Amino acid sequence: MYRKIFFNKIEKFNMSRRKRNNNEQLNPMHFIQKMLSTKETYCKYKNEGCNWKGLLKDLNYHLDNNCPKEKVNFVYKECKEKINRDYLDKHKLICNYRKILCEDCKMEICFIYLNEHRKKCPKFKIFCYQNCDLYLERRYIEQHIKEDCPNTIFNCDFM
Ligand SMILES: [Zn+2]
Ligand SMILES: [Zn+2]
Ligand SMILES: [Zn+2]
Ligand SMILES: [Zn+2]
Repeated sequence: MYRKIFFNKIEKFNMSRRKRNNNEQLNPMHFIQKMLSTKETYCKYKNEGCNWKGLLKDLNYHLDNNCPKEKVNFVYKECKEKINRDYLDKHKLICNYRKILCEDCKMEICFIYLNEHRKKCPKFKIFCYQNCDLYLERRYIEQHIKEDCPNTIFNCDFM
């Protein structure tokens, strides 16, 4: 009985000590974080050529908004490539998702879909399927074949 009380006391003592230690550990951490946030730092892309230097607390803002070396992706929303911010302008010129004007229907198409579009663009000119040598916009072909292609064989009711 006496022993048990004794051990309880020790246990309580240890617990209160642990608590105090925890508090003491927390406070210096806060202190260090405060120190760091007002500390000057270089950009994490310094070695890649970004010369930014500023407060640690501003680093994220710099990376998100104007670091030339941060990998970003907002040229065209379809493009999933990550590109250095300072390379964006060049990437815009070669990106597969850059907008190209279809010469025939004047619609804006992503470069990567242009070939596909040309295969069904209504104003793209093609030869008549029935080899009558007529060359006309795709959208008129069906009508031409139905109505005036010399190679269409019409069923004659009188024969
Ligand atoms: Zn930077
Ligand atoms: Zn791209
Ligand atoms: Zn087109
Ligand atoms: Zn024809």
